[in-house]
Amino acid sequence: MLRAAIVQDARTDRVLMLGWMNEEAERRTRESGEVWFWSRSRERLWRKGETSGNTLAVEELRDDCDGDALLVRAVPAGPTCHTGAASCFAPALWRTIAQRAAERPAGSYTTELLDAGVGACARKLGEEAVEVTVAALDESDERLVEEAADLVYHLYVLLAARGVDVAQVEDALQSRRKP
Ligand SMILES: [Zn+2]
Repeated sequence: MLRAAIVQDARTDRVLMLGWMNEEAERRTRESGEVWFWSRSRERLWRKGETSGNTLAVEELRDDCDGDALLVRAVPAGPTCHTGAASCFAPALWRTIAQRAAERPAGSYTTELLDAGVGACARKLGEEAVEVTVAALDESDERLVEEAADLVYHLYVLLAARGVDVAQVEDALQSRRKP
């Protein structure tokens, strides 16, 4: 039987990815302490990180109430998503920027910014912050929305330029929440 395996970061509780396990994948996962899946598209067993090196070290396996899903609590060795994002459920914009950072495709504005370096990305973010401020004080809602979108985009690019994942920012915000 094929069971859905939800992988959760054992340190932060972040949901990282969803995979599928047959009995052999589950056995290998339990015995090796690293996460194995059954690939439905390639029809073979694969060890998470076998090519990327971004393995998952198992802390705990839990069955759900009727046994058709597994919760895998694990510590990731690197980004879990193939895009380079920490999680497959990261914001779409972040997954795109993480992928650009990893692949640096020619002709992409994001690649251009990343190649210009952290200093250039930081200056650009400063300019965008000023534009948001001006829009907030003097311009229409539409202009403010446009400028806010630019600001978020350039913030994400700056994080990528520094090699920081947006998940770390989410964790910092989470830790500030009052119980
Ligand atoms: Zn993914």
